[in-house]
Amino acid sequence: MEVHGWGRYPVTSAEILAPTDAASLNKLLSAKQHNSAIPRGAGRSYGDSSLSSRLLSSRFFDNFSELNTESMTVRCGSGISLNDILKICIPQGLFLPVLPGTKFVSVGGAIAADVHGKNHHLDGSFCDHLESFRIMLASGELLHCSRSENQDLFHGTCGGMGLTGMVVDATLKLINIKSTSISQQSLVAKNLQESFELLNNSDASKYSVAWLDCLSSGDSLGRSIIYLGEHGKERGKEQEEKLERDQHEILKHRAGRSLSIPFSTPSLLLNKYTMKAFNNTYYTFKVKEKAELNVNYDRYFFPLDGVKNWNRLYGGKGFLQYQFVLPTESAQPGIEKVLEKITSAGKGSFLSVLKKFGEANSNLLSFPKEGFTLTLDFKREKSLFPLLDELDEIVCEHAGRLYLAKDARMSAETFKSGYSKWEEFVELKNKYDPKNVFSSLQSDRIGLTD
Ligand SMILES: Cc1cc2nc3c(=O)[nH]c(=O)nc-3n(C[C@H](O)[C@H](O)[C@H](O)COP(=O)(O)OP(=O)(O)OC[C@H]3O[C@@H](n4cnc5c(N)ncnc54)[C@H](O)[C@@H]3O)c2cc1C
Repeated sequence: MEVHGWGRYPVTSAEILAPTDAASLNKLLSAKQHNSAIPRGAGRSYGDSSLSSRLLSSRFFDNFSELNTESMTVRCGSGISLNDILKICIPQGLFLPVLPGTKFVSVGGAIAADVHGKNHHLDGSFCDHLESFRIMLASGELLHCSRSENQDLFHGTCGGMGLTGMVVDATLKLINIKSTSISQQSLVAKNLQESFELLNNSDASKYSVAWLDCLSSGDSLGRSIIYLGEHGKERGKEQEEKLERDQHEILKHRAGRSLSIPFSTPSLLLNKYTMKAFNNTYYTFKVKEKAELNVNYDRYFFPLDGVKNWNRLYGGKGFLQYQFVLPTESAQPGIEKVLEKITSAGKGSFLSVLKKFGEANSNLLSFPKEGFTLTLDFKREKSLFPLLDELDEIVCEHAGRLYLAKDARMSAETFKSGYSKWEEFVELKNKYDPKNVFSSLQSDRIGLTD
């Protein structure tokens, strides 16, 4: 069967195996010990990290074992989506501490990429709130991992892109919320300098993210709209009623979610002129929007989830998302260079998002590190690849790295220059999976397997 990631590039042919429980996964692994495979969750990573000739789908690992409101934890199968967790937690006044830009990712995928949200500067990434998980190794052994049990495997699997084994289930910590609304404040930054200043001055805000007009130039280069957010503060009976109303709102919103892209848009429609027009219009429109709004969490965290199959907008050839992080000291000059390079190449991105990261954690391959991360989308075309190679050089020169969950083309050199613990990871892999049973197109390309 033909499969691809969210960017619809690359496309490969694969056998999809869907074990129904740990015992059937064990059977699959011992039957074909020498054939490589990679776990696959919801397929929301953009490139080739969940592609291989054999995919181990977590689709049937979709059970909830326990929602413990005392300890504020949830135990569930690795194939459960964050959306499903939110649906059972919200009525209890509980919420996930870290959310990526889509709720349609699986727990296994969120662990494997150690995903981050709009609050990394305060709360770290997904696995910083992970209590434990069970993983099945290539040998078929099922191990329990936490910060105190099989720690090396815990820190290698969190952010390890499915290369250490298949996560079967996990226990996640939750936070309390008093309302599902987010008080959103928007700020306008006239250029990149101001975008950095406003994000730096917003450290106390729970959530922050800047939407950047990546096609503005000259004095307006890097202008942006910054969205800050705090959880709503209702209490007592009022709170209960509000949660109920919000729940109703969510269901209504889901039912009414009819906007869908039914087929790939002709990619000719996406060129530097339409991109520029879009960026300009969005900026001008948003500048006029009310600066303070109460919005449902769905709209704040997952604005793109409302448009089904939006990845088809980029045409039949698909698109590439390019996300990198640069350390605080070099972030502004580095991002300035990247933006200038894109503008002079006449390329554009609909979506350009700037976020501030806090300290890195101790996982071997987790992406976030202290500094700033920029995300850009590009329609796939031949002339894009040399440009991305040039952007890689800027990222490496500025001591940055690219996000594995978005990548479809970086070289082994770029990967190794960004991820200083890659050799430790290979040692760990030799310990738990010496025959590289778990490998992906990506891991072969960047020199972690093969
Ligand atoms: C619209 C959109 C917005 C996004 N926003 C963000 C964001 O804000 N922050 C962020 O960090 N990411 C973001 N992402 C990326 C996404 O969160 C990650 O790629 C995530 O890993 C996808 O999870 P998945 O279940 O779809 O996994 P897949 O894409 O299926 O797989 C991703 C990786 O996880 C591994 N994996 C999956 N299941 C398991 C398992 N059970 N055991 C072991 N390994 C497993 C795979 O082998 C692969 O390496 C976004 C993606 C989209 C489409």
